[in-house]
This record gives sequence, structure tokens and C-alpha cells, in this order.
Amino acid sequence: MQKRIYLDNGATTRVDDEVFDEMLPFFKENYGNAASLHSQGVVADEAMKKARNIIAKSLNASDEEIIFTSGGTESNNFAIKGIAQLNKNKGKHLITTKIEHDCVLNTFKWLESQGYQITYLNVDSKGFVNLEELKNIIRPDTILVSVIHGHNEVGTIQDIDAIGKICKEKNVLFHTDACQSYTKVEMDVKKTNVDLITINAHKIHGPKGVGALYIKKGIEITPLLHGGGQEFKLRSGTSNISGIVGFGKSAEVAIRDMKKNVEKMKNLRDDMITDLLKMPHTELNGTIGDERLCNNINITFDFVEGEAILMHLDMLGVEVSTGSACSSKSLKPSHVLTAMGKHAEQAHGSIRITLSKYTSKKDIEFSAKKIKEVITILRKLSPLSARRTAKNFREDKHGN
Ligand SMILES: *Cc1c(COP(=O)(O)O)cnc(C)c1O
Repeated sequence: MQKRIYLDNGATTRVDDEVFDEMLPFFKENYGNAASLHSQGVVADEAMKKARNIIAKSLNASDEEIIFTSGGTESNNFAIKGIAQLNKNKGKHLITTKIEHDCVLNTFKWLESQGYQITYLNVDSKGFVNLEELKNIIRPDTILVSVIHGHNEVGTIQDIDAIGKICKEKNVLFHTDACQSYTKVEMDVKKTNVDLITINAHKIHGPKGVGALYIKKGIEITPLLHGGGQEFKLRSGTSNISGIVGFGKSAEVAIRDMKKNVEKMKNLRDDMITDLLKMPHTELNGTIGDERLCNNINITFDFVEGEAILMHLDMLGVEVSTGSACSSKSLKPSHVLTAMGKHAEQAHGSIRITLSKYTSKKDIEFSAKKIKEVITILRKLSPLSARRTAKNFREDKHGN
């Protein structure tokens, strides 16, 4: 079989062997319910406590501040709706950005339908939120600011220290979606003023369907699910023990190897960016250096369609994505690239390449070579490219 090179780690990642091994016993030998009082129940409860402690420590938080959920989507819904609901008598204004993940944006859209007022902050051409705009837009009735940390599509890492500071000064709660940055960028809730943090397992070589919401001690929130009172009465339902154990292990491994893996991915990322930008009519979306996620590359290739690049690369064994996984099946141009000032045509010609700790130098070199070949072929065929050449030709003639 043809070797496949997976460069879509922003969509999801392979489960680590260490994580898989840790999860296995909880399907067959130790399948107890963590709420049961017998021995099997105690084993499950202790495994869950251990995972909660690993995740709490990874953020420098306390165990009671970690609520397990079914993933990033649920944590974001919980944080935003839970805070909006509980504070509705205090105010109904919330602030977010134009570049959030769909599960944040659509939660805010729903809140609008329920009578809340939402401000969607603009971003600059690199994807950074304007801190002055944020400062000026906070009102007495503003109850929450929600800004993504490391961006899933373009890799831009927001200055959450600065955003947290502004929110604290203005006495507004601050939530961040850290699904992409978790264990790639250090996060310390004692140093950064952040009240709620969304994280999940499947972006860090853990299983799908499990995540967590960090809620700072003392912050009140409306429970997400009512029932048996699990997760400190905030999110009832029988605990997903194997998933939670896998999440804990994936966080432990990722934190343990963070320095080494981040460094490796950064170097490969920069090599590939340099290589791809040698092609004419290409542009990197987002920023460079430490303010970009170590595993993210997003490039616009003028005159071609991202979907066409993706399909051709797939035939050659290289798996990439156009924009974020959730929107890549729709034909609407990326709301993120549009907010950053790209025209619809350019947004359509963009691909996202996301690395993992398993990506090798050879993978990168092979993929870059194939990407360049594919772009060259597609540009030769492209009506967009042909139109442009004809236009230049006409302009040249006029010039004469
Ligand atoms: C993947 C992702 C989510 C959604 O998380 P799920 O666990 O898949 O529900 C939310 N936000 C960001 C930034 C993500 O990358």
C-alpha cells in the first residue's frame, strides 16, 4: 500500500500508543462506574481522579476547577451559554471575535436569537485581535469576552495575557478556546487572568469525544446537564472513564515531551514554509515565529482551488485540509481568511498543513515537492490563471 502522510493534525491526531495502552483495561477488566461504591467503582473513580489531577496541574489549576465534557464543542457551549444564562440579569452583552471556531460562533449566533447582544471583534491581516478595540467596546453590561487562543486555521496565537488584563481591569469574565494551543503553548492560570478554558483530548493524541472546561474557583455557571450530579453537579452523566483516562495520559505525555516536540515541529514548519513560498504567487496566512502555532502552515496559492489541491495531493498520499475541518465541506470562503482581508478567490485557494510529533523531515520534504508539482499542474489548467494572463496581455497592449 502507498505510504500516507497525514498533515491534518489540526483536524484530529493519531492516538498515542502510551495513551491507548492506558485506556484498554477500562473497557474490559475495570469497566466499573465511577459512582459505584464497590471495588470496581473505586478503581474507576481513582483513575478519573488521577486524570483530573494531571490536567489540573498542566494548567497550574486545582482539581475541582476541571470539569470533564465530551470535547471542545461541548466545553465551548457550556462556558458561553452557562455564563450568559447565569448573568442575564447583570447584562446581556458578550464579546467574541470574527475568527472563532464554528462551535463558538454558532453558540453566539444562538445567544443572539435569545435576546443577547454580541460584538464580533475584527482582526488584522495576521489574525490578531485589536486590543484597543476590545478595551473600547467593553460596556457596563458586558458579561463575557471569549477569544480563541491558538487559531485552528491560521495558527495565530493571541496575546491572552494582555486580553486577560483588560478583562480584569474592566471586571468582565474571560474565556478562551485553547483546543489547538493546549500542550503547545504554556498556560498557567496563576499567571494569566483567564476564567474559563476549553481543551480537548483528540488534538493532543488522545481519544475523540472527551475534553474539559477549566472554571476558576468562585465563578458561578449554570449547569450544562442535570442528573446524577457528576462533575461537581455541573455536568451530569456516567463518566467516560476510558476517555478521561486517555485524556489524562495524553496530557501527561504531551507536557512531558512538550519542549522537544514543539522545537521539532517549529523547525519543520519553518522549513516547509520557506520551501513553499519559493513558488511565485503564494502567500503565508497568519504570522511567523513564536506567535504562530508550532504545527500550523496556511498558504494561499493564487489561481487555484484549495479543494483541487487537496484532492490531487490525496491521490499522491498526502493528506492536508482547506481551512478548518468543519467548514471544508462547504463552498463558502473561510470566514477567518475573509476577516483577515483576503478576497473570496484567494480564500478558496488556501490550504492548511498541520504537523504532529510524528511528522518527519522526510514527510515534509516529500509533501512540499508534491505540493509544488500539483500547484504547477493546476495553474497550467486553471481558468483563473488563464484569465489573469489574458488580462496582463491586454494591459500590456494598452501600455504600448
Ligand atoms: C477541534 C476544535 C474544537 C472542537 O473540539 P471537538 O472536541 O472536536 O468538539 C473547538 N475549537 C477549536 C479551536 C478546535 O480546534
